[in-house]
Amino acid sequence: MMNTQVFHIGYCPELKEATLHYWGCNFKCRGCSCQKLIWDWMLEEFLDARDAEPLEIADAPHRFLSISEISAALEKLELRRVLHMGQEAILDPAYPVLAEMIHRRFGCKNVLLTNGYEMPDLRHTDKVEFGIKAITNGLHRHYTGKSNKRVLRNFKEIYNSGVEMVIESVFIPGYIDVAETERIVDFIAGVDKKLTYVLLPYFKAGNNPWRRPTPAEMEMAANIARKKLTNVYFFRGDEDLQYKVISIFPEAGSNTELEISETHCGVLNPV
Ligand code: SF4
Repeated sequence: MMNTQVFHIGYCPELKEATLHYWGCNFKCRGCSCQKLIWDWMLEEFLDARDAEPLEIADAPHRFLSISEISAALEKLELRRVLHMGQEAILDPAYPVLAEMIHRRFGCKNVLLTNGYEMPDLRHTDKVEFGIKAITNGLHRHYTGKSNKRVLRNFKEIYNSGVEMVIESVFIPGYIDVAETERIVDFIAGVDKKLTYVLLPYFKAGNNPWRRPTPAEMEMAANIARKKLTNVYFFRGDEDLQYKVISIFPEAGSNTELEISETHCGVLNPV
């Protein structure tokens, strides 16, 4: 029974989408949301946490699932796709095994979220959601603790593999701001102007001086991106929530850290 680094499973019935949350990362991002909350940020009981001041570093998970436990949990669900996320899924040796099991057993898509520092095993990966933190290497080092050289090289290698890609970056006023966002957009446009780009607003996590961006700032940054890319989406940060989601693990009502499991998915704004 192979163990994994998966500690949390979420599910959105309307989208038929399960999320596997892994633990462990090779970056130490100053704004990493896991410093504040390790569970799914879309869970209803945690929505206010976006605006709250970070108080203390969240405890790491202590219960991890085996592949057979994950398979049994997913068995009960109608699935269109499974997202591998949380922290860095590809650091878990179980990721390729899980992705293959999901393909073979459930016939649905695997979507991998990654920071790009390691080249992922793409054999059973249908789509990559690639996070670019910064193009300016000094800024990247300051934010993550690591150079972005490998990240940018792996970005091109993943693109050249032909796997579907979506790129995300986080807008942080006064830090990863308009100028750096433009550099990110220029880098993406230099590879392919038609790649889908999603701009996310920073919300407070960790011991940082930065504030959340306003919806107007997000809209303005997205409009700048739209001048060079054809598929730009963004979150304003004040969206109503649209789709119900349940927590599959930990289960609602079980004797676990997570007691309430109803939540909603967010709404994405096309520019
Ligand atoms: S890459 Fe993601 S999970 Fe890793 S430290 Fe940065 S924000 Fe956190």
